[in-house]
Amino acid sequence: MTDPAHRFYDELFIGGRWRKPATERRLVVISPHSEQPVGEVPEAGPEDVNAAVRAARQAFDDGPWPRLEPRERMEKIDKLAAIYAGHIDEMADLITAEMGSPRSFSRLGQAAGAAHMMQLALATGREFRWEERRRGVLGEGHLRKAPVGVVGAIVPWNVPQFLIMPKLIPALIAGCTVVVKPAPETPLDALWLAEMLEEIDLPEGVVSILPGGRDVGECLVRHPGVDKVAFTGSSATGRRIAAICGGQLKRVSLELGGKSAAIILDDADIDKTVTGLKTAGLMNNGQACVAQTRILVSERRHDEVVDALAAMMSGLRVGDPADEATDIGPLVAQRQQRRVQDYIRCGVAEGARTVLGGDGPPMDRGWYVRPTLFTDATNDMRIAREEIFGPVLTVLTYKDEQDAVRIANDSDYGLAGSVWTADVAHGLEIAAGVRTGTYGINMYMLDIGTPFGGFKQSGIGREFGPEGLSEYVELQAVVSNGALPPLKGTAPG
Ligand code: NAD
Repeated sequence: MTDPAHRFYDELFIGGRWRKPATERRLVVISPHSEQPVGEVPEAGPEDVNAAVRAARQAFDDGPWPRLEPRERMEKIDKLAAIYAGHIDEMADLITAEMGSPRSFSRLGQAAGAAHMMQLALATGREFRWEERRRGVLGEGHLRKAPVGVVGAIVPWNVPQFLIMPKLIPALIAGCTVVVKPAPETPLDALWLAEMLEEIDLPEGVVSILPGGRDVGECLVRHPGVDKVAFTGSSATGRRIAAICGGQLKRVSLELGGKSAAIILDDADIDKTVTGLKTAGLMNNGQACVAQTRILVSERRHDEVVDALAAMMSGLRVGDPADEATDIGPLVAQRQQRRVQDYIRCGVAEGARTVLGGDGPPMDRGWYVRPTLFTDATNDMRIAREEIFGPVLTVLTYKDEQDAVRIANDSDYGLAGSVWTADVAHGLEIAAGVRTGTYGINMYMLDIGTPFGGFKQSGIGREFGPEGLSEYVELQAVVSNGALPPLKGTAPG
């Protein structure tokens, strides 16, 4: 595919085949830059969910996929990775067209990252201890990692391929069957992935991709044929999904929201810090769960930091996300633009000072928001407590380091954070005091080679690496009153 614009689908990918949808309902994808349609797909309904789960259930209970050796399943994923690697630029362009992520970020931060994840998941799968022996009190025990079953994978729109991959790929490697529900804003990249999955010829029923909104997602979560839900999205939705899964004692992993604090210590190099915060705070137009949006600085260096942040933010290029030089594109939807503008008005009403930006749109077309910098804010303001999900940074002042760590921890969330200092060893001590699942010293970047997930209201479970793969297995312990045969691949005795 060379032109990402105007991508249309008439059918849904159910059980590995393209099938007529149960209803006539359609999802029209509107470019957040041009406000023109860029594609259209069928919207899945409850009957489509039933068909997909039925197919996944049958493929899991009776089909070959969970019974293959992990090595055989990984051969299929290897093929998928090779196909995907040939389309990274076009996938990035499609994501930019769908949701407005600047092209440079769509490529490196999204499509190339998704391709890289497949390779890393394969490497993890090769090293994973699928079977092992352990001495129990009754004799030698055999431990087996069994696939968890039928997985419902639900993702939001902000980094769509980057969020599908760490669920779909480890689940498949483990031998699960999967029904993916992409967000209604970004169904096109998901159905293009379905086309690639079709090429690798998986057994019938193993993967379905069903675009739809909240109702379809909830139908999938509630479905008794689903063994595990893997969810990324807001903490509010995560709480609801966890409650439904709890009622059914269904396995669930949750990657939720964040409100991360960047602690700038007095010994930090301000130029380098502000350059780092350009990405760490504002990547993907600020629509990132890990965005470092609370900037914590001491009174001593406050003015210097605010001036440097204002200079950096006033130099940001806001505009067409397809342009390679763009820093900040539009927000995903008009709804999101209004929500962020409401937060900006709320910050002013709460008494914070707007150093830069404001609630007026910077363009006469497209769902843009002006990059906005607040100072004179306190940590009890809504702009400091709630996820804004737009290009808005808030500077807060701390008295001493202990106070900085206290403010960083005074949040319902615990996803990410960072410290900026000349002393890396001291940075590690600060990291140990902050209750978040990931942390950066003089940087913040999500590292797909290390476990990712949240403390507190930011989630339950981890993605990536052996921890991420473990989310898709059940542990079976076998005891025997006779000698066990040697493990496959090990020499007898
Ligand atoms: P959202 O929770 O509204 O929606 C996420 C997905 O869940 C969508 O596919 C949506 O259709 C579906 N959904 C909504 N209600 C549902 C329900 N009751 N049952 C089942 N599915 C339902 O999230 P959003 O606002 O679209 O996405 C942004 C959020 O995602 C932010 O809070 C962001 O921090 C979070 N996020 C977290 C991570 C992470 O890895 N921790 C990564 C990216 C985004």
